[in-house]
Amino acid sequence: MDHYAVIGWPITHSRSPFIHRYFASQTHQSLEYERIACEPDQFESTVNDFFYTGGKGLNVTLPFKERAYRMAQHITERVRLAQAANTLWLEDGLIHADNTDGLGLLADYQYLNIPITGQSVLVFGAGGAVKGVLAPLLEKKPRELFIANRTESRARELIDSFKQIAQINQVEMNAGSVNHHRLLKPFDIVINATSASIKGETLSFPNTVFAKESYVYDMSYGRELTPFLEQARQLQVTNYYDGLGMLIEQAAESFRIWRHCRPTTKALREALRREIGENS
Ligand code: NDP
Repeated sequence: MDHYAVIGWPITHSRSPFIHRYFASQTHQSLEYERIACEPDQFESTVNDFFYTGGKGLNVTLPFKERAYRMAQHITERVRLAQAANTLWLEDGLIHADNTDGLGLLADYQYLNIPITGQSVLVFGAGGAVKGVLAPLLEKKPRELFIANRTESRARELIDSFKQIAQINQVEMNAGSVNHHRLLKPFDIVINATSASIKGETLSFPNTVFAKESYVYDMSYGRELTPFLEQARQLQVTNYYDGLGMLIEQAAESFRIWRHCRPTTKALREALRREIGENS
């Protein structure tokens, strides 16, 4: 049976096995999909072992997406731009890499009817997930995109990497700390792409980023509302969403790359929500 896995640290939270088994059943394919908990100093050796022993494909999650990019021997244009990868597979004896996070986010935004073109967008975080979604977001031509990160220098580095795409798409792109003065005024779209809630930590930032009509999105998800979404809800924001839809859509793209067929995702949204409600 073909063998796939998701690798990360921590990994127990990952719903990828449920999703890929669902896709396999839907498309009548026989495969197994597991979680690999990988200590930070063993990522490269674990990936090599996985493929050496016949593994077909890996999803890569935090904190390894940038290292997956660095170890890949063949990368797509999306990975070249993001310098981070979430999908690996072996082809002609070489480790290939793609990044489906941006496609996943945009597919979910389309499903949720969230407009991006002409809007002001705030993104919290500057890790692998942000690198994956920045180019697709910029290509949707928001009016403004601000990257706010706890470690300000990492946010600034992203400006350097993506300024050309921002210019081509006529987006005003800036970066700063999570207390930058721009955050004293609201944004149309606010995205949390930090790992704060997954680590049980608090993301502190000024409430002024939210207007009641803002679209607030947390890439994290869980049985309860994430602290970030709860904060938005308490400020009377009505349009708030977790990252479950993105998770499903990015997984569907990985599945397409590996198995050459794109599963449908609508019914899985409800099934996964139920599964999380029952088993978390
Ligand atoms: P990384 O480890 O690469 O980056 C983590 C980011 O979170 C960094 O910018 C880090 O800031 C910031 N951060 C961590 N803790 C805190 C804190 N307490 N306060 C403020 N900022 C903090 O992770 P990824 O980018 O790969 O993933 C980020 C999140 O997005 C994860 O929760 C992941 O599960 C989720 N995700 C969800 C997806 C989906 O499909 N729904 C897809 C991809 C990711 P600093 O630079 O200062 O360390």
